[in-house]
Parts: sequence; structure tokens; C-alpha cells
Amino acid sequence: MKWDGYGQLKPTGPATHRRSEGFTKLCPFSPESANEDQIAAARFPDAPHRDARLGRHISCHVGAASEPPFRKRGSSGGMVTWVAAELMGRGHIDGVLHVHPGEPGQPFFGYRISRSQEDLLAGARSRYHPVHLAEVLDQVRATPGRYAVVGIPCFIKAVHLARAQDPVLAERITHMLGLFCGHMKSARFVESFAWQLGADPDRVRAVEYRLKDANRPANWYTAHLTLDDGATVQNEWFHLADGDWGAGYFQNSACDFCDDVVAETADVSFGDAWVEPYSSDGRGTNVVVVRAPLIQRLIDEGVAQGRLDLHPVDADFVADTQAAGFRQRREGLAYRLTWTRRGIRPVKRVAADATGIGWRRKLVYRTRAAISRNSHRMARLASLTGRPGSYLGWARRAYVVYEGLTYHRGRLAPLFDRVERMMQRGGPER
Ligand SMILES: Cc1cc2nc3c(=O)[nH]c(=O)nc-3n(C[C@H](O)[C@H](O)[C@H](O)COP(=O)(O)OP(=O)(O)OC[C@H]3O[C@@H](n4cnc5c(N)ncnc54)[C@H](O)[C@@H]3O)c2cc1C
Repeated sequence: MKWDGYGQLKPTGPATHRRSEGFTKLCPFSPESANEDQIAAARFPDAPHRDARLGRHISCHVGAASEPPFRKRGSSGGMVTWVAAELMGRGHIDGVLHVHPGEPGQPFFGYRISRSQEDLLAGARSRYHPVHLAEVLDQVRATPGRYAVVGIPCFIKAVHLARAQDPVLAERITHMLGLFCGHMKSARFVESFAWQLGADPDRVRAVEYRLKDANRPANWYTAHLTLDDGATVQNEWFHLADGDWGAGYFQNSACDFCDDVVAETADVSFGDAWVEPYSSDGRGTNVVVVRAPLIQRLIDEGVAQGRLDLHPVDADFVADTQAAGFRQRREGLAYRLTWTRRGIRPVKRVAADATGIGWRRKLVYRTRAAISRNSHRMARLASLTGRPGSYLGWARRAYVVYEGLTYHRGRLAPLFDRVERMMQRGGPER
């Protein structure tokens, strides 16, 4: 995996040729690889497929780890680290592949293998930053043992696909812990933080995407940078030109063709409970979807012992916490698949379909895609020319269009609202 000029990781080398059979069956976005339903059916044959949004599962929960220090150290309710530590503590695994801050001189974040609870806690928190599995998978191949992997949906799927080709990985990677995912950002998002927080990007040594503060709503994300002299700068995302997650700044283009919000192929998946009263609780609250019987047992025992504060919920509850993600990956994906494009034709579980989507909603999807695409180009240009203002000015102007369309807010909202009223008076949309 190599960095490109946009701060994205790309597979390179002869093995990644489009016609290499190994690669076409390994890449999670390849039209020729198994899809999430097929992988989940093989792994969880006894878990009912009750809901097309969450995939196969046996239970859903909302809550957090009450056993200290997991919730305090986690981005959300600390459940990912709790389950990983529990698997290790009970001897089910020897190590966990997950994402840690990088060493000095390395990228800000990278996959590492943790072998103790202390190590696991050092890697807690969400990193919206490109990472890759290549080195840790080599370490797994080289070192016998049983391992769990933590990853966003496409990474968990990629590990399943790699296991199908590599018996050593199949034997050693025994547990999969999934993270819900809205999309992945490029590394340039950090550069943009630095520009907006008045710091020189070259002096940034550590990044926190979601500084935790129990006294502030969980969904008020705060970006926090540590500089080379130990000084820190921080600001809330909603003060940033590109801080609205839904607008898609710096989104990886592959995410436009993803149909898995909740890591449907993972033994258990974790997200944030983005509904009230949980979104306002700064301590962080998870939603958890369980697919594997062993994880169900660990959770049941954790609840019975008072180490977990979890309550059962239904699939609708979980899906409601990710309403925007499901819109983008169902209706939005169906619409994007109707767009003519060159190159590989994605094969998704969602069919291409634009019927029933109003003009305004279509424009939201178009604007979001344009913001994602152009944010990479504009930020790169700004960086090369040393003129961050050119990116930030563009980002703010693009946001005026996005917020007018999406939230009926800002300078352009009256115009869009007027057009909408005219369209409604004029009968059905054309
Ligand atoms: C790119 C990305 C997008 C996300 N989008 C959504 C979303 O739309 N909706 C939602 O509800 N939740 C989303 N999440 C998940 C959410 O941010 C939390 O990670 C999740 O709720 C678990 O919280 P926790 O407190 O239980 O985890 P913690 O106890 O803090 O543990 C988090 C674990 O995840 C690992 N990790 C962090 N970043 C990565 C990464 N990039 N790749 C692999 N492992 C990683 C850490 O090393 C750690 O082991 C996203 C996460 C990522 C990384």
C-alpha cells in the first residue's frame, strides 16, 4: 500500500493488476469478490437474517462498559476495547490487530498488534485516517497464535477474503470486531485541521479526532493537535469549514460504492448511539450488534456481573442511530449507481435506481459527491502552492450550497426552498 498525492493509500505492484485473479477476489470493492451476505451466511449460519440493514445478527444493545477505565478511554462507550480485552483475558486470543498512534517519523496512525490490556487501551479511540493491514498480516503469518482484528466494514470484509486465500490467516485470525462506518477520510484532513487551528502542518506530531469531554455532548467532536514543542491546539468540528461529517469532505472515493454501514461480516459490531438522550451524553454510548455466540456469552456475563451497562434494543433502534449513513448507502447508492462512469462497474446488493428520489435529494447526493471529489484536489493544490486560503475559501463556498440543500439553512436556502415550492405547485416532479 502506497500513499498517493491526495493522502490516500493505494494498492500497488503486479499482484494488484485488475486481471490478477487473487486480487479481484481479495479487494473488498471488487465486483468479483464474495459479497457481505455470502460471507455472513457462511460465518453465521445460525444467526437469523432479520433485517437487511444490519444483516445477520442474534442481538442488539445500547449502552457502555461500566468497568473502568474502558468508557473513559474509548471514543464512545469503550465497548470495542472491553470485548477485545475480555477475549484476551479469557485466553481466546493472543493478540489484537487494531490501530495505534504512529511512532515518530511514521504516519499518524497504523495497525499494530496488542498483546496486553494496557496496549489495547493505548490504541483505543477512533482514527478517521487511512491505515493498512499489510504489515500486521505479515506478522500474523510469521507468528503462530490466535488473533482478533478490529476494523471498519471494508477491512473486516478484506480479512475474510484474505482468509479464503490464505490458510494460515484463516487458522490464526479467529475473531472479527467491526466498527460502524460513515466513510473514511484522507490524511489531508489533518493538514486542514492544522491550517484552521493556526498550526504549521509539518509541526503536528499527534492527532485526536474526538477529544473526549464528559461535560459536552458526545456528538460535538473536537479536533486536537499536539505540536513538536508539546503545545496543543484544538477546536470543535462545527467551527471548521469542512467539519460537517455528512458533507463528505476528504471522503475516500470507494466509500461512494459501499453498502455495508454496520460491518455485517464481523462477529460483533460497534457504533455510536446517535439518538437522544445518548448523543448529548459526553461519556459516550455504544450500539452493539452481536452475531457470534461466544461474544453473546461474554456480553451476557459482563452484564450479569455489572461490568457492562447494556440494554437490549431492536434493529430499528440501531438503524435509527445511523439514519444518515443508511440514506447515503441505500437510496444514495442506488442513485449513484445510475450515474454513467468509466472503468470497473461496481456490483452491489443495492440495485441502480433513481425513481422516487426528489430533485433536492438528488442534488444533495450530487453536491456531496462533488465535495468529496474536489476537496482532495483543492487541498492538494492549496498545499502545493502554500495557499491554504484557496482550499478553505472553496470549502466554505461549497458548504453554503450543501447546507442550503440539506438543512434548509444559510444564504442559498431561500432560493432552494422557492424552487421546491414551485416544483410542488407544478405537480409531480419530472
Ligand atoms: C473511519 C471510521 C468511521 C466511523 N463511522 C461511524 C459512523 O458513521 N457511525 C458510528 O456510529 N460509528 C462510526 N465509527 C465507529 C466509532 O467511531 C467508534 O469507533 C465505535 O463507536 C466504537 O467506540 P468504542 O468507544 O467502543 O471504541 P474504543 O474502545 O475507543 O476502541 C476503538 C477501537 O477501534 C480501533 N480503531 C480506531 N480507528 C480505526 C480504524 N480506522 N480502523 C480500524 N480500527 C480502528 C482502535 O484501535 C480501537 O481498538 C467509525 C469509525 C471509524 C474508524
